[in-house]
Amino acid sequence: MTPLFTTKPDATLVKAQDAARAVLLEEVPATDVGEHLGYEVEVEAEKVVTHLFECTRPGYLGWRWAVTIARAPRQKDVTVNEVVLLPGADAIVAPGWVPYRERIQPGDLSPGDLLPVEDEDPRLVPTYSFGDDPLEPDDTAQVRQVAAELFLGRVRTLSVEGRDLAAQRWYDGDGGPEAPLAKSAPASCTTCGFLVRIAGPLAEMFGVCANGNANDDGRVVSFDHGCGAHSEVKLSRKNQPQPPPEHAFDSLSVDDFETF
Ligand code: SF4
Repeated sequence: MTPLFTTKPDATLVKAQDAARAVLLEEVPATDVGEHLGYEVEVEAEKVVTHLFECTRPGYLGWRWAVTIARAPRQKDVTVNEVVLLPGADAIVAPGWVPYRERIQPGDLSPGDLLPVEDEDPRLVPTYSFGDDPLEPDDTAQVRQVAAELFLGRVRTLSVEGRDLAAQRWYDGDGGPEAPLAKSAPASCTTCGFLVRIAGPLAEMFGVCANGNANDDGRVVSFDHGCGAHSEVKLSRKNQPQPPPEHAFDSLSVDDFETF
């Protein structure tokens, strides 16, 4: 049987696959145990070997029974460390657990939901300092209250990192130059009369679309974004609406009709 690791195994333990199977059959029904699939050797403990057996239990395709056995130095007897069921490379397993905070996507918030920001969120920096010494929560609240009364503004503001992350996200998103709408646009937002300029460091690259007929109305767009609702778009002559035909004057009277 081919070893799954290259560390030199203990020959007695390798040969003890029947003993490993016997131990396994004490734990699970024989109908759940299939062929011997091989063995693994602990990287830093050559006198510990894990024998692997196919799991034939319905619903456990690709899973393997792992029976770990060991032998003390200068001892003939093999002892059993553990018997467990492990997923193999092709096993169907549940997706990895993702913390709640990382599972939330834009658009997941419903009315009434709260999504607090961590104190150490790198996207934010304090607008003003509480002093060199760490303050008690009550003192911090007092400082915040005084700051509010002095109109010092927001407690925290966007950090450089937070700003850069937002800029990259916007540029790569639907309001950037790679959006399908922008790629087939006749001209870019920078020449569009519907672009509203913004203030601050992001003003050199972004604005807000104010065209109520455009898909991006009310959204941040990069200057090199664009769409077919650009203010200077003109239809070619052949695409312009055709004028209605001249009115026809019906001169037929009842008398004319009776003469026929
Ligand atoms: S209408 Fe189109 S081109 Fe004009 S600002 Fe909005 S997205 Fe840009």
